[in-house]
Amino acid sequence: MSLDELYRQVIMDHYQHPRNVGTLPEGAVSVRLRNPTCGDTVELYLAVEGDRIAAARFRGEGCSISMASASMMTEAVTGQRVTEARELAENFRRMLRGEPVDEGRLGDLAVFSGVSRFPMRIKCATLAFQALEQGLEEWGGGSSGEAHASDHGEGEA
Ligand code: ZN
Repeated sequence: MSLDELYRQVIMDHYQHPRNVGTLPEGAVSVRLRNPTCGDTVELYLAVEGDRIAAARFRGEGCSISMASASMMTEAVTGQRVTEARELAENFRRMLRGEPVDEGRLGDLAVFSGVSRFPMRIKCATLAFQALEQGLEEWGGGSSGEAHASDHGEGEA
């Protein structure tokens, strides 16, 4: 089995059996984003405790790449420090721009490296990470008790 084929299987597995699907109760940060080129939507919920992401959930609809990326992203950031999650998002973007990155630090997310060859699909892969970055921004911007934000539908047609 080629590496491409293996990567494709991991993506299809997450697409067909997405992890961390759902929402989080009030108090969690939520961000809803849409990728207009493909029609993917991702609604991300983050519960941040101290400087760690205690839980991440998402709901959404879209292509296999966008849904698998959201599923894998929520798995990767659960339990991570906010700074680590930001770094992960940055590294992920870098990989998709075709820039050299330490793929070991991306873990399973390295399966999306091939997407860099398909410019039309890059937005699909990065949508969940954009939501992550925006969510962490909102969390950092709000006062500790009042971190709930919603209906930030950037890119809504
Ligand atoms: Zn897509």
